[in-house]
Amino acid sequence: MLPSHGNFAVGWIAAIHKEYVAARQVLDEVYEDLEFPRPAEDLNSYTLGRMERHYVVIACLPSGSYGTQAAAEAVERMKSSFPMIRFVLMVGVAGGAPTQADVRLGDVVVGTRVVPYGFGKRTPGGMVFTGDIGLSAGALLTGTQKLAAMLVEGNLDLDFIVRQTFNKSPKITTEYQRPHERPDRLYKSEYNHGDSCDCQLDCAQNLSKLVNRPERNDYCVEVHCGNIGSADIVVKDALSRDNYAREFRLLCFEMESAGLMSKLPCLPIRGICDYSDSHKNKHWQGYAAATAAVYAKSLLKVIPPENVLQTRITMDKTELERHIRSIIRDVQRVATSRSVDEDSQIRGADNALKKIEVIVDLLKDLSEDHSADISKIEEEVGKHTSDIESARDRLQDIEKGEKELVASLAKITEHIETQKKMSTNIEIEEKWAVLHQKAQEESMMLTKLATFVDEVLPVTTAILGQVGHVTGNENVNTAAEVIKNSPRLTALFKSMSDLRSKHSRSSGQKSSKKSNQAREEVAYTTSSKTSFRKIMSNTFTSKSNQSETEEKGNQRLTSESQNEEGIFANNSCSPKKSN
Ligand SMILES: [Zn+2]
Repeated sequence: MLPSHGNFAVGWIAAIHKEYVAARQVLDEVYEDLEFPRPAEDLNSYTLGRMERHYVVIACLPSGSYGTQAAAEAVERMKSSFPMIRFVLMVGVAGGAPTQADVRLGDVVVGTRVVPYGFGKRTPGGMVFTGDIGLSAGALLTGTQKLAAMLVEGNLDLDFIVRQTFNKSPKITTEYQRPHERPDRLYKSEYNHGDSCDCQLDCAQNLSKLVNRPERNDYCVEVHCGNIGSADIVVKDALSRDNYAREFRLLCFEMESAGLMSKLPCLPIRGICDYSDSHKNKHWQGYAAATAAVYAKSLLKVIPPENVLQTRITMDKTELERHIRSIIRDVQRVATSRSVDEDSQIRGADNALKKIEVIVDLLKDLSEDHSADISKIEEEVGKHTSDIESARDRLQDIEKGEKELVASLAKITEHIETQKKMSTNIEIEEKWAVLHQKAQEESMMLTKLATFVDEVLPVTTAILGQVGHVTGNENVNTAAEVIKNSPRLTALFKSMSDLRSKHSRSSGQKSSKKSNQAREEVAYTTSSKTSFRKIMSNTFTSKSNQSETEEKGNQRLTSESQNEEGIFANNSCSPKKSN
């Protein structure tokens, strides 16, 4: 059975074609013909597939475009078509910094922190960094720990998996296998490549210019976790490389992740294809792309899909509004279409309903997250009234979105009804009947969602009062008073209940009246806490609160916050075999 659109929770971005092809090689199943509703402005090309138990959306940056801005735009478009994506993996090649760690060609660097090292100002005391450090998604980082253990134990052989996986055609084999005929050479930082010099013929003969490194098994791929430098700068000079690497403890350089971090939780996974110096070396690109892709897939293997789905959806007010607008435009197009072709009419209505379905799911998830925030007040009451207010504000935004969707849905239902009546062909009439049923289901879902949001708000005030009363905790009682007496919140409640009664009048649904009554009962009952839980679990299949350990947002790089353990390698490789 084909997965549904909402199943795709993992995004994967490739910057260049070679990385895109590598990503496709590690898919367990490809859904070439799977149709999904996408806004007209999304021009990304996608490969949809399954990797282990995850459904993954792979996109490649348009050819010729690179850098942080291009990456940010690609992921924004991806979000517009797949709003349920929880995080992205940025998988591809990068120039290594063998300055502070023994990073070698084909090794994998996992960016637990992304340093946009290009932001800075020159001061008399030297360069001062002014960028924000991006922290990678927490759910992903726990997976990297497990892989680190497997590597040390010898239970994960990335080179072996590359040989097994990248063999679907002679061309793939040639392009993605380890280039043993082009040995991994690291030149001393002071030794620059001459203009007319051929690295293989000239530089390689000059053994005195090579850095003396400990021997390593020829098939060894090591994995290093730590800081990745990301900026719109191409580093092709060993001395600059060493300076940046020392200052920011960088393991490699790339040009995309800094653009992604602000859009979605992200984890960069990079195969090392050169040493960011002046020596020309393109031969390791394929293999480096392959080791990164294989590592990314191994990571997905150890992360349960349930954990991914429990991760919050990252979406701000503007993005949510944009989604809803785009759907409303679609519905309008369908409802006012003058096309006489019934098949294309049905397709249009079906597509619009699919989009509505996606957004209703999204609203459901978002409102669950924000009411989970509100439920936290039971533990941290009194300290975070502003957090409570902001969670309530978000719920109000969601409520506004619902209102617009209800209107839009009514329009398309009316259109479907008219078409159904006009239809003379029994088969087509049945198709319209199916769509009608679908529209009614979405409408029920929205009503349920609206009731849920509506009930959560006043109940929390009652819970606070109740908790304070039972525990005799002054703080709790105060927080309840704050909420009850806040003019802003009172206004909010009023506007919401006005909105609700308008809904019920316009849509003719009786459930609202019942919900108002239920709300009042719940708000004043002595067992309000139990009722609240009941509402939470009855209205939707409840999901557990997001792990508190997940790190979100940005952290400023200061000398104090630099983790001394920030760079560590998973040393898994035995010394070079003697034969
Ligand atoms: Zn050279």
